[in-house]
Amino acid sequence: MEQAGGPTPSSQPSTSGQTAELWARIRGRLRDEVGEVEYRTWLRQMTLASAQGEEVVILLPTRFLRDWVRSHYGDRLRSMWQAEMASVRTLEFRVVPEPRATDGVPAAELRANEPPPVGPRIGAPARSPAEAEATPPAGLAEPLGKPAEARAPDPRGDWSVPLDPRFTFDTFVVGKPNEFAHACARRVAERPASPGFNPLFLYGGVGLGKTHLMHAIAWAIRERGAQLGQVPQQVAYMSAEKFMYRFIAALRSQSTMEFKESLRSVDLLLIDDLQFLIGKDNTQEEFFHTFNALIDAGKQIVVSADKSPSDLSGIEDRLRTRLGCGMVADLHATTYELRLSILQAKAMGQGVPVPPKVLEFLAHKITTNVRELEGALNRLIAHANLFGRAVTMEGAQEVLHDVLRAHDRRVTIEEIQKRVAEHYNIRLTDMSSPRRARNVARPRQIAMYLAKQLTSRSLPEIGRRFGGRDHTTVMHAVSRVAELMQADAAFAEDVELLRRMLET
Ligand code: ADP
Ligand code: MG
Repeated sequence: MEQAGGPTPSSQPSTSGQTAELWARIRGRLRDEVGEVEYRTWLRQMTLASAQGEEVVILLPTRFLRDWVRSHYGDRLRSMWQAEMASVRTLEFRVVPEPRATDGVPAAELRANEPPPVGPRIGAPARSPAEAEATPPAGLAEPLGKPAEARAPDPRGDWSVPLDPRFTFDTFVVGKPNEFAHACARRVAERPASPGFNPLFLYGGVGLGKTHLMHAIAWAIRERGAQLGQVPQQVAYMSAEKFMYRFIAALRSQSTMEFKESLRSVDLLLIDDLQFLIGKDNTQEEFFHTFNALIDAGKQIVVSADKSPSDLSGIEDRLRTRLGCGMVADLHATTYELRLSILQAKAMGQGVPVPPKVLEFLAHKITTNVRELEGALNRLIAHANLFGRAVTMEGAQEVLHDVLRAHDRRVTIEEIQKRVAEHYNIRLTDMSSPRRARNVARPRQIAMYLAKQLTSRSLPEIGRRFGGRDHTTVMHAVSRVAELMQADAAFAEDVELLRRMLET
C-alpha cells in the first residue's frame, strides 16, 4: 500500500499535484527497472500531458522516440499506471509540436498547449545528450513537465564530450585476455591514423573494458597534443545510439549539413557499441559516409561492438567490410588472475583495507564482467565506511548475498578436483591416481567430500570419477573429512573456504 488511506488504486487522483507525484513514482520505478542508461536514453524525455478517466497521454519530443517508447515500454508503462490508477485503460503517446515541425507529424498528433521548443535554444546552456550520457546521474528525478528536449542536441554541436576521468591507460589493468586490445589501443593513441590501425575495431562482451579503452585513447591523444603545445585535437566520442539520436535530431531541425560538417571536422572519432545500429539502415548509411570521409581525410576512427565485424549481422555488408579492414582486436572473458589484479588495483587507496582473502573470493565468484566485480567491491567499501566496520569475509558474504546468489552456478566434479588440487598444490592427475601418500590422499578425500556436498552425484559415480574407486572409499572419505573438520578448526576453515569458492 503506497498511499496512506488508499489500499486500492484510486480511480483518479484529486489534484494535479497528486498526478505529478504519481507520475514521478512511475518514472522512478521504470528507471529502477531498466537502469540509468536506458532510462536516460529513451525515457527521460517523456512528459505527462494528462491523466484523466481512462486515458493517460504521454508526450515525447520526436516521432522516433515516441515510436520507440511505445513499442518498447508501452505495455509496462500501462500496467504501472493501472496499478496506481485503476481507471486507466489506454496510454496514448504523442509527439509534441515544435515550431519548425517538418517531419509531417499530423496536426492531430500535436499537442495544443505548452509546446516546448525543440532544437537548440539560444541563451540556454547547451548540454548535449552525449554530455548528459557522460555525466553521472544527478540522482534526483528531474522536475516534472520540463521536457528534456530543452537540452536539445545542437547538430552543429561541439563534440568535445567530457571523458570519464577514471578511464585512462593508467587505471587499465592488463592481463592475458586484454593485452592485445590494450596494445592496439596504445598504438593508436601514440600514432593515430597509421596504416593498418585505422579503424581500430574493439569487440568483446559486456563490461570487459571497451569503453574504458576508448576513453583512454581519447585522453592520451588529448594529453599528447597539449604537451606538444598543439592545437587541441578534436575528439568525438559517443555511443552509436547517441550518434543515431543526434543524426535524427539534425534531420528534424533540418541541419543535417551542419551535422555532417561538424562531425567530419574531428580528428578522432570514437563510436561505442556499434551493434546498436543493427537494423537502423538510415543511420548506418549516414555513419558509413562519415566513416569514409574521415578515413579518407586521414583521421583516426575507433569503433567498439559486442561482436566482430563479420558476426555483426544486420549491419550492411559494405560497412562491415570497411570496419574490418583496419585492426580488429577482441577483449576476451576475464581470467581469475586478471580479475584479482583488477580488484587489487581498485582496492588500493580506498581508505578501507580489504583482506586479500575477500578479494580472492570475489574474483572466484563474480566471473561475468568487470563492472559487476567493481560494483561488488564498491558496495563492500561503502558498507564498511557507512558502518565504520572492517571488511571481513563474513561481512562480504552478507552484504553481497544477492549478487553472489545471482552468480551461483552448478559446480562439476572436474572443477572441484581442479580447485582442490590447485589449493594443495598437487597434480590434477593425483585425484584419480592410486597413490596413497597423505599429502595426496587427504586433498583427494576433501575433493570427494566436496563432490558429495556440492553436486548431486551418487557415491558410486563420485568414486568412478576419482580413478574408479569404490563407493565405500568415497563414504569413508566423506566421514573422515567431517570428523577432521570437527576436530581441527584450521582444517575446517580451509575446507569451508574451498566450499565457498565452489559453492553452487
Ligand atoms: P564495456 O564497455 O566493454 O562494456 P567498460 O569499459 O565500461 O566495459 O568496463 C566496465 C567497468 O570495468 C569500468 O568501470 C572499467 O573501468 C572496468 N574495467 C574493465 N576492464 C578493466 C581493466 N582491465 N582494468 C581496470 N578496469 C577495468
Ligand atoms: Mg561500453
